[in-house]
Amino acid sequence: MIVVMKQGSPSSEIEKINQELQSQNITPEKIVGKHNTVIGLIGDTQTLNPGQIQQLSPFIEQVLSIDKPFKRASREFRYGEPSEVFVSTPNGFVAFGQNCPIVSVAGPCSVENEEMIIETARRVKASGAKFLRGGAYKPRTSPYSFQGHGESALKLLAAAREATGLGIITELMDSDELEKVAEVADIIQIGARNMQNFSLLKKVGAQKKPILLKRGMSATIKDWLMSAEYILAAGNPNVILCERGIRTFDRQYTRNILDLSAIPVLRSLTHLPIMIDPSHGTGKSEYVPVMAKAAIAAGADSLMIEVHPNPAKALSDGPQSLTPNQYQVLMQEIEVIGQAVDRGSQKYLSTVRDAARRQDSIVTV
Ligand code: PEP
Ligand code: MN
Repeated sequence: MIVVMKQGSPSSEIEKINQELQSQNITPEKIVGKHNTVIGLIGDTQTLNPGQIQQLSPFIEQVLSIDKPFKRASREFRYGEPSEVFVSTPNGFVAFGQNCPIVSVAGPCSVENEEMIIETARRVKASGAKFLRGGAYKPRTSPYSFQGHGESALKLLAAAREATGLGIITELMDSDELEKVAEVADIIQIGARNMQNFSLLKKVGAQKKPILLKRGMSATIKDWLMSAEYILAAGNPNVILCERGIRTFDRQYTRNILDLSAIPVLRSLTHLPIMIDPSHGTGKSEYVPVMAKAAIAAGADSLMIEVHPNPAKALSDGPQSLTPNQYQVLMQEIEVIGQAVDRGSQKYLSTVRDAARRQDSIVTV
């Protein structure tokens, strides 16, 4: 249930309502949006009477029930407004969201050595990427495949951050590594295979770093949003959803089915920012650019692209990795598509500044 306050409601009035709700064992959560202030009600709201709550204050505009099982993740919880995830990187704040410029994340599947990660970071930055991705701990189907260089790879990511100022996204597989990963990562990735690792979700929900939650390969959109709900419910409001392809019966030509219809579906169901990963989504580098462009045309807020200086020699996911040159061409094309759907890089600059002034979704990391 949410309580929508009238514009210009005094904070003392909101405080009064909060106290009243707390006395009824409800946890109120104040959400300051661009147009409205909303109080989200968490707890056993079944027994609450919306009419009675409306009587609590003349400043209440409306009391609405949320019928979705994912309460905090639902679009209604923010009265229809999108949320932004702000991430502090050495190069400045980057904002993810529907009212923000498109954010590009690029880098190799795995961090292999210092030279390749620094070179890749420099090249993707020059093409406009804001984040470097790279796996230190790799979730591989076979125990005999390369498992990632672990802690030493984290150090190399830190060096790439230092050298380029790019933000870092890397996967956390085991909560034992949370502290080490959080030290280096600006955004922590929870991979497809861990999307329903609920104890891991609770742990990343209880810390401050923003989370990139990839869709499980057999997860429904509802399953996925319920997993996001775990993180939000544990206290971390900064979740980005990443579609990375779902299981296909036809693995002859693509690795997965990249579900681009998830973009408009998520847009209607949730306020959270949406990222698309066409690299894992297709499994083949030749299909990555067209699906990346389709994702932007369909309204994605962000892209994750695997880029490797020498894909033929990559230790993991070489066949789906673009070269830095191919990535550069793609980024130029993305800018054109972005402008066509009103998401060009020149737009939103003032929106981002406005949003940054609002305190509700700012993370200081
Ligand atoms: C990855 O990003 O390299 C990765 C393993 O992703 P996913 O969890 O989507 O398979
Ligand atoms: Mn990969």
